[in-house]
Amino acid sequence: MKEDFYDILGVSKSASAAEIKKAYRKMALKYHPDKNPDDKEAEEKFKKAAEAYEVLGNEDKRAKYDQFGHQAFEGGGFGGGGMNMDDIFSQFGDIFGGAFGGGGFSGFGGGGRRVVKGSNLRIRVKLTLEDIANGVEKKIKVKRKVQAEGVTYKTCSTCNGQGQVTRVTNTILGRMQTATACPTCGGAGQSLDKKPSEADAQGLVAKEETVSVKIPAGVVDGMQLKVTGKGNAAPGNGISGDLLVAIQEEDHPTLKREGDNLHYDLYVSLPDAVLGSSTEIDTVTGKVRIKIEPGVQSGKILRLRGKGIPSINGYGKGDLLVHVNVWTPKTLNKKQKEFFESMREDEHFQPKPESGDKSFFEKVKDMFS
Ligand SMILES: [Zn+2]
Repeated sequence: MKEDFYDILGVSKSASAAEIKKAYRKMALKYHPDKNPDDKEAEEKFKKAAEAYEVLGNEDKRAKYDQFGHQAFEGGGFGGGGMNMDDIFSQFGDIFGGAFGGGGFSGFGGGGRRVVKGSNLRIRVKLTLEDIANGVEKKIKVKRKVQAEGVTYKTCSTCNGQGQVTRVTNTILGRMQTATACPTCGGAGQSLDKKPSEADAQGLVAKEETVSVKIPAGVVDGMQLKVTGKGNAAPGNGISGDLLVAIQEEDHPTLKREGDNLHYDLYVSLPDAVLGSSTEIDTVTGKVRIKIEPGVQSGKILRLRGKGIPSINGYGKGDLLVHVNVWTPKTLNKKQKEFFESMREDEHFQPKPESGDKSFFEKVKDMFS
């Protein structure tokens, strides 16, 4: 039997929309995963409350639910607890008015108490091309503010925990009441009661922690990953900020990245170019042996399919493009000079380029002309 949505939120069937919203807020804050890390039971309650509010918080859905019960939504994504955390947090947008979005203080939609969010932490992580190609889990040391042990909070006496104060002003239209955020607690409804001496004015202390960050394959230099809840804690009932991890790609000694493709400059000796050979080259998954055909030309590109970087979207992989450069010696001894002199007039060594011998740039030109 599926639990009744009204029971989950602890409201009566005749509750007003405002009462339902209030009840949900209370539960969402109490069971928020940032405040109950690794607590499966709290997470379940958090999800259930979100699911109940998704229906009861909407006039049309609530009417359907009142008439048909859970059957009204079967197969519609609510059957097996179909909401995921992303859905739930997107729902927060309208109930908390972006309180979970930007960090710092921000208000609820309908006034009243605010959720305080801790500040975000930013960190840069250096990755090799191999890390990027294969994906990597990095253990990152961060110094984050956490609530100090022994700290207690009390209801703010300025606003009695309401988070807002009402001001009466005289205007030409008469007396007007306006509600503004409480100046003492910043809208949180709580203030610091007792704290140990090492804690700051908000009851927080800096603590070094190792955070494990899973970096997917295919990330790009400058990209930012978010680890939810691993920023600085907020005082009292607030929720922690996020850890923002900026990706920095280290230069590779032999491979150059261009999107998902990689480029490798291969230098081939004159004899190897003429006679053919095989050689080992670097890839992001280790060395591979490639064959050089006899008579290979400078500028030829060998394409190793799928030896590039996986696409960040998870669709396919780039290629490794091996650029052939025939290496010519700048100096020769007498014997070597005679050897090349003897071939200079030989008809066989006169250039007779075929279309397949053109350099990469000439090929590009061909495509546009
Ligand atoms: Zn206050």
